[in-house]
Amino acid sequence: MTNPLRDALAAGRFCYVVELVASALTREARLLEAASGLARIPAVVAGSVTSYAGGAMGHDPLRVAAAARARGLTPNIHLTCVSQDRRELAKSLEDMHALSLENVFALTGDYPGAGDQPPVFDLDSVQLVRLIDERRRAGMPFHVAVAVSPFKYTEADCVYQYVKLEKKIAAGADVAVTQVGWDARKFAELKRYLDERGLRTPLLGNVYVLGPKTAERMATGRPPGCWVAPKLLAAVQAESRARDGGRQARLERAARTVAILRGLGYAGAYIGGTHDAANIGWIIRRADELAPRWDALAAELGYGATGGFYLPTRTSSTHAPAGAPAASAQSRPRAERVPRVLDWLGRAFPVSRDTRLRRALTRVFRWIDRRRPAAVLLERVELAIKKPLFGCQACGNCVLGHLEYVCPQTCPKQLRNGPCGGTDRGRCEVVPDKPCIWIAVYERACASGDLEALKTYVPPPDRQLQGTSSWINYFLDRDARPDRLLVISGADSTRGGHR
Ligand code: SF4
Repeated sequence: MTNPLRDALAAGRFCYVVELVASALTREARLLEAASGLARIPAVVAGSVTSYAGGAMGHDPLRVAAAARARGLTPNIHLTCVSQDRRELAKSLEDMHALSLENVFALTGDYPGAGDQPPVFDLDSVQLVRLIDERRRAGMPFHVAVAVSPFKYTEADCVYQYVKLEKKIAAGADVAVTQVGWDARKFAELKRYLDERGLRTPLLGNVYVLGPKTAERMATGRPPGCWVAPKLLAAVQAESRARDGGRQARLERAARTVAILRGLGYAGAYIGGTHDAANIGWIIRRADELAPRWDALAAELGYGATGGFYLPTRTSSTHAPAGAPAASAQSRPRAERVPRVLDWLGRAFPVSRDTRLRRALTRVFRWIDRRRPAAVLLERVELAIKKPLFGCQACGNCVLGHLEYVCPQTCPKQLRNGPCGGTDRGRCEVVPDKPCIWIAVYERACASGDLEALKTYVPPPDRQLQGTSSWINYFLDRDARPDRLLVISGADSTRGGHR
């Protein structure tokens, strides 16, 4: 079976993916009517069916996807880590495969807005890509899209987004789609970041047809990760006073953005904010007309944050691996004492390889492990030490040493491979009055000059080890950590039977 999205990207043909928001507010019949219209536009290679958009339940994305395909539109299905553990995610992939649905958009997902119980985030988006890749190696031909946001205006937020994209690519991503944004310098920055590292993963630029209501909401940072600058909000509000309510101006801005993306070497555009076939057709035709002027148009699309961070070119950077800027060298944070002391201890008393010390400690921990009261006591001692220092939650799979001594369990989404796209100038999406924990990871890595370490893949924890001593698990090789990867899917887990 052909896959127009995969084929267009492989052929280097500029293509369009249009978002179909399968929210509870949109009638399914209307979505499918839109799908029929889009299927008649040859440049539209897929309809991207959302799941859990904005943190709220909508229609079943698989049902909408199958129905859209029956109307001739190839679906690209959003699969989020929200409230689905690895077994359920694996099951969703099996269901997709059974329906011959290939295109999957792997996302962390927005934190749900309501509910008594904190939601499950068993995997993060990098781990999800690996899970899909495991399935692909087992014969399910998935095509994996991932998200990236260049529209971050502090150094840590921005560079970590790019580092995380590299991790997604290493995990098996086929195409990256940007977050919404209206800043040509940032679109160019992302493309340059990949080019400078020889990464050929195609990029789809997000082109959102922005009306005044959505602009007002995004100006407040809602949904998380989407941001409209005050200058753009004022422009959209002024446009909306025109006779047509600003429709023509919105479509023109979208067409100009598409022309810029083409000029920058993007593989395509991901259009949101409208799925009306007449609008999409107009944008495509107008973008074709505007394509030769893309450079001049790029100079006009400048709705970034005043004084915001832009990544310098690699040649002007002092600490090359992740590409942080030369300017930051003077303002690098000082290494904090506890992480540095622990690093020193790790070097002075090596236990990560087969040393006499490791063998001796393994014997001690095995002895403790065989005596349940002693094992419980050790777990309590470990927690008593690590909780005040790191906010430890006794996950049993300690990766502090791989994350600059920041505990990933203190992230509300429990991510282990970098921040989600919802950060707002270094603040957490879920608890906005708190800094995102990944800022500390980035700053400590910067201070120790080891940004390259941020690219290490951190596997999902083995949840069966919750409440046990990570020290015992480490020495008895039970835990999941970067140097001890396990098959992700619960169904295939190499764990089990050890407790
Ligand atoms: S990673 Fe797990 S064991 Fe380590 S500090 Fe965090 S909760 Fe505790």
